[in-house]
Amino acid sequence: MKYDIIIVGGGPIGIACFIEAKKNNLSALILEKGTITNSIYNYPLDMTFFSTSEKLTINDIPFNCIAPKPGRKEALEYYRNVANYYDININLYEEVLTIDKSDYFTVTTSKNTYFSDNIILATGFYDIPHLLGVEGENLPIVSHYYKEAHPYAFQNIVVIGANNSAVDAALECYRKGANVTLIVRGSEFTSRLKYWVKPDIENRIKEGAIKAYFNSTVEKISHTSITVQSNHETITIETDHILAMTGYEPNFNFLERAGVLLQDDGYKTPFYNPETMETNVKDLYLAGVVSGGLQTNIWFIENSRVHASQIINHIQSK
Ligand SMILES: Cc1cc2nc3c(=O)[nH]c(=O)nc-3n(C[C@H](O)[C@H](O)[C@H](O)COP(=O)(O)OP(=O)(O)OC[C@H]3O[C@@H](n4cnc5c(N)ncnc54)[C@H](O)[C@@H]3O)c2cc1C
Repeated sequence: MKYDIIIVGGGPIGIACFIEAKKNNLSALILEKGTITNSIYNYPLDMTFFSTSEKLTINDIPFNCIAPKPGRKEALEYYRNVANYYDININLYEEVLTIDKSDYFTVTTSKNTYFSDNIILATGFYDIPHLLGVEGENLPIVSHYYKEAHPYAFQNIVVIGANNSAVDAALECYRKGANVTLIVRGSEFTSRLKYWVKPDIENRIKEGAIKAYFNSTVEKISHTSITVQSNHETITIETDHILAMTGYEPNFNFLERAGVLLQDDGYKTPFYNPETMETNVKDLYLAGVVSGGLQTNIWFIENSRVHASQIINHIQSK
């Protein structure tokens, strides 16, 4: 069978694209390498979204939660229920390996081969950590993902980063009894820090409960320590664990293998038409946060949901 659309990625935006396709009587299949909404499933267990629930909805299906901002578990419930309601056609635990174009697309996965007239890449950015690129980064004391605080109780930990993920991890681990040191490259936290978290971390640093080094860059990591260049001084900190919360990036290799051009703008922004989301490859579209390249802070669920209707409108107009 040849589909009208194959969607790569079963995150919130991949699901939104499927629903829009179904509403327009187009045949569609989602191929997802993990579980449904795999990125959100892999988020820290106790994370809270910075968006309010109505901004995370798909196709105006209400997202009810008790607090204004939902957590990971509520988001998993919501997107799973929406997927169920629309009876989405999704193959899970099936990774897309190659996408080749002739008159139509041939999609090869870890399990099968499929054919489609159009492709939507909604592959997100959470699978590949943005590396520090320093000696020792691959040692077992370093993790680029944070799940929960319990394993770090009564341990010395160093958290690297200035964004929500770093600050959330630092505060949670501190409250579960870890001795936390924060390493921040710039002179302050990012302006995107959740407004209710900012005073908490600032006050913990002020009172000395969490030690923080600003204007500091990591030089190297050993099995038991991290060496940092901080305000022209070299400091070595003994530590049991390092949480390198330095962000994530799209799978550029995968995009390039599909033929998508990356711009030479310092962010490797994939080439696409912002009106239609079509890339330089005809009939191959981008949707969701993958579209930002290294600028992973410009697209969210709330502002990229609209990609679904942009793309399907364009496909329908052809
Ligand atoms: C900790 C954190 C908190 C966030 N909080 C918010 C928030 O409050 N509000 C907000 O709007 N946004 C938030 N975001 C950003 C963004 O909205 C989410 O990352 C969201 O999940 C993006 O949706 P998506 O569908 O574009 O991509 P994803 O949800 O990342 O989905 C991509 C899917 O593609 C799959 N995939 C990738 N490659 C392949 C392949 N080759 N074959 C098959 N499947 C593949 C992945 O397994 C994944 O399931 C947050 C991000 C993070 C990391």
